[in-house]
Amino acid sequence: MVLPVSTGAGPASDPEAARALAAELAPRLAARAAAHDAAGTFPEADFADLRACGLLGLMTPARLGGCGASFADYTAVAVELARGAGATALIFNMHSSVTGALAHTPDDLVRQMGAPDSFLAARDRLLADAAAGALYAVAMSERGTGSRLSRTSTVYHATGSGFRITGSKTFVSGAGHADAYLVTAKDAGAFDPRVSYFLVPAGEGTRVEPTWDSMGMRATGSHDVHLDVEVGPDALLGGVEGVTLLLAEAMPQWLVASYAAVYVGVARAALDAGGAHLRERGLHTLPTVRSRMGRADAAVSAAELVVTEAARRVTEQPGTPETNRWVWRAKLTAGDTAAAVASSVLEAAGASATRRGHPLERIYRDARCGALQPATSDVCADWLGVAALDGDPHRDAEVPRW
Ligand SMILES: Cc1cc2nc3c(=O)[nH]c(=O)nc-3n(C[C@H](O)[C@H](O)[C@H](O)COP(=O)(O)OP(=O)(O)OC[C@H]3O[C@@H](n4cnc5c(N)ncnc54)[C@H](O)[C@@H]3O)c2cc1C
Repeated sequence: MVLPVSTGAGPASDPEAARALAAELAPRLAARAAAHDAAGTFPEADFADLRACGLLGLMTPARLGGCGASFADYTAVAVELARGAGATALIFNMHSSVTGALAHTPDDLVRQMGAPDSFLAARDRLLADAAAGALYAVAMSERGTGSRLSRTSTVYHATGSGFRITGSKTFVSGAGHADAYLVTAKDAGAFDPRVSYFLVPAGEGTRVEPTWDSMGMRATGSHDVHLDVEVGPDALLGGVEGVTLLLAEAMPQWLVASYAAVYVGVARAALDAGGAHLRERGLHTLPTVRSRMGRADAAVSAAELVVTEAARRVTEQPGTPETNRWVWRAKLTAGDTAAAVASSVLEAAGASATRRGHPLERIYRDARCGALQPATSDVCADWLGVAALDGDPHRDAEVPRW
């Protein structure tokens, strides 16, 4: 049964209301997180709550029934949700990446890229469906090549009436519960294979293989998805082939920095759970414990500032070199901070917090995933290092960034 949200305020119609509802939902998500983590199951009731609060329409423009959120608004909402349940926030991040990128690409740019008007109509339908509760997932990663777009092996062929897509994806958060998947695929016929985005409806031609049994973020249900599917011409996002690498460079926020908000929220959850545990056991007066919590507090606040600053710049000055640099800083700082803080707080809390079912034990495992998600901390650090040494971080790399 889905419990009503306590205020009975109804779905959010603007970003401020969305943020308040996300903060209100966080304890409810936290209360369910242990069971979903243990069983590795998708948090259905969490998503029923998110739907009831209108949060799946967060990025949908108001004219299509959504909240019309900016990237900064998304960041604030994702931090709140992740403070409750990291896995739920991570699935929400994937959905918001799809809807946010669609909503924030200006119509003029889409037309300049050569997209037909039918694409704009299809995009509006997708965004309106999200506001009505549709959930979208991202199916980019593949076994053997991870999320490296340049090595994508899933292929598409033009059929005359659309495209046929064949291949297999892995690590697909929300697989089996999404209404459609954002799929990356390369043109099977091109000499220099171009990688494109398609939005593929769940159902006929898509098969979920339940493979997800990982260390952290277990409730994301990030199973494998096999594709042998025919889609119409409007499934090609942007209406243009081969735009994925271009978008990754020009608009890196949805591929790089949207995770950062999730991992800042996870780091805050480590502080919350650590504080509760330490007070409960009367350990909070120990000087060593206090200094670990003090360092953790400073580290999380610093990471949150970097992530908030990156989000502000993306919202106010998207796509500038300096904004994009903040995007990469945000991902690196959030991923590394979450792992370091969760580890230190766990050590302050002691071995009793490592028992299965203890919130810190789960948060420690969830926090470990931040640095591993693309762009990994090592890749972010290299990108930023090249930029700091006056190089071009996209071109001055021995291997492609994506
Ligand atoms: C909890 C969780 C949820 C996820 N959800 C999704 C999802 O919904 N959809 C999806 O598509 N994927 C998802 N992923 C997958 C994720 O986005 C990555 O694709 C995946 O983690 C890559 O895994 P990999 O083991 O191949 O490692 P890689 O990312 O390939 O990394 C392996 C090593 O190579 C290094 N490396 C990687 N790329 C480069 C490079 N360009 N230059 C230099 N070094 C490099 C890394 O730093 C690392 O040391 C999820 C992952 C996790 C952990």
